[in-house]
Amino acid sequence: MNPVEPLSIVIVGGGTAGWMTAAAFGHFLDEGFSVRLVESEAIGTIGVGEATIPQIRMFNQALGIDEDAFIRATQATFKLGIEFVDWLTPGSHYMHAFGDVGRDVGLCGFRHYWSRAARLGLAGPVGDYCLNDIAAKLGRMHRGAPKTPHNVPEMPHAFHFDAGLYAAFLREFAEARGVVRHEGMVAEVRRDGLSGDVTGLRMASGETISGDLFIDCSGMRALLIGDALGSGYEDWTHWLPCDRALAVQSERVADFTPYTRATAHTAGWQWRIPLQHRTGNGRVYCSAFTSDDDAAESLLAHLDSPALMVPRPIRFTTGRRKEAWRNNVIAIGLSSGFLEPLESTSIHLIQSAISRVLKFMPGKVQAQADRDEYNRQFTFEMERIRDFIMLHYTLNERDEPFWRACRDMQLPDSLAAKIELFRANGHIFREGDDLFGEVAWFQVMAGQGITPAGSHALADTIDPDDLKGYLETLNALYVREAQRYPDHAEFIARHCAATAVSEGVPA
Ligand SMILES: Cc1cc2nc3c(=O)[nH]c(=O)nc-3n(C[C@H](O)[C@H](O)[C@H](O)COP(=O)(O)OP(=O)(O)OC[C@H]3O[C@@H](n4cnc5c(N)ncnc54)[C@H](O)[C@@H]3O)c2cc1C
Repeated sequence: MNPVEPLSIVIVGGGTAGWMTAAAFGHFLDEGFSVRLVESEAIGTIGVGEATIPQIRMFNQALGIDEDAFIRATQATFKLGIEFVDWLTPGSHYMHAFGDVGRDVGLCGFRHYWSRAARLGLAGPVGDYCLNDIAAKLGRMHRGAPKTPHNVPEMPHAFHFDAGLYAAFLREFAEARGVVRHEGMVAEVRRDGLSGDVTGLRMASGETISGDLFIDCSGMRALLIGDALGSGYEDWTHWLPCDRALAVQSERVADFTPYTRATAHTAGWQWRIPLQHRTGNGRVYCSAFTSDDDAAESLLAHLDSPALMVPRPIRFTTGRRKEAWRNNVIAIGLSSGFLEPLESTSIHLIQSAISRVLKFMPGKVQAQADRDEYNRQFTFEMERIRDFIMLHYTLNERDEPFWRACRDMQLPDSLAAKIELFRANGHIFREGDDLFGEVAWFQVMAGQGITPAGSHALADTIDPDDLKGYLETLNALYVREAQRYPDHAEFIARHCAATAVSEGVPA
């Protein structure tokens, strides 16, 4: 019997998307597959992408990666949520914290009790009833079972990490599992004249790399899916008008907060991501409302620590690839689309695409029905995250032209319906595989100033004094719990301090 030729997979690109894909393929695929990755050091990677959401832990765990080893290798810190500063009005702030908010009572979600209490003037901000929020603001960190069992939920976490170090970490992991790396620049993408499938890559060195399945992780260049195959791009700039970013690293700050900070500014917003060895910062802005120079000046003026480099400009167009899988090419990462990093979703989208590809795992003969379903799931996921990011912009009450334009824009029907539903009686229903659940929507809608006009009828039956007592008890319980946790920096020093505190890696 002739041995079966392994299915040859070629990954183009060695950024976060390329090496996450390579690591997962190396781990999950057996000898029936050969996996190669092509990257060009001369081109380099986008060099940003440092804040994550808790799902990243599932990715690392599925690969058998030890959490503390990963933290040490990537200069990571813990992240319990994102603080939004000045988004509703200057001076306002709230957190989209991971984890639960309050406690549901029977059939009735906590948000109904909160909204009734808010109307009666008896409720604090939503964050008063969220363990992650309270611990984040106290600068505390804890993993695993709560110290006060039965009454307190677990505290989910994600990470801030150095994206370059994460890619290097995964490269070592992938190469140890048989992934072969090719250094060099792709000069031409070759296609079959009949099917249109990609057959191989001609490298600048003259070498040809052929394959059966190609994963396009070439970043915003979209070498295969866009340039070669012509899968179009659906532009969402009319909904998310920011189109530029400036990224800058600054010195480490001694007390690294266990949360990302996103601060609204005149025509965009600024991120702050504390790592063990440095701080990642950047300004996302809309070029129609501010100049590059003003954005750079304002970015530098709002750093917590001295800059380590000159701000690096990045241009982008928010939107998605019309088909992320076309012919025998699947786009993962920035080649498949871009949503600004307000909710740290891009790395999650990479992870989610990898798991989708593994579920479909196309062979040498591919079915259009598979592609259609893959693209449907991809589109659903992108559109729901787009809506969630838009939510922060559209509900603002700021007074600058950019923010007025965001407030006045025509919303996608899906988003408008969700806001109206919450405004009326506090209802939120998770749709299908929407990444963001009810608690996330609740925190942002309440944080952006909505108090529902009514509540679930069950919440209306509770006596106001009992309601007040219930909320106060919950808050006191969570504050007491969080106060039992160690300081974030102390927690890292004890469990997972990076061995070398470097000066930072200029991108
Ligand atoms: C301003 C900004 C901030 C962000 N912040 C976050 C965040 O906080 N959290 C988050 O989850 N995501 C964030 N992202 C998104 C995140 O950076 C990306 O999702 C992630 O880095 C993946 O990028 P990539 O691997 O797709 O592309 P890239 O990093 O651009 O990698 C592309 C690869 O393709 C290779 N390549 C390209 N052309 C060729 C060629 N001709 N020949 C050979 N190789 C080639 C390059 O060498 C490189 O290796 C942010 C993005 C931006 C723009």
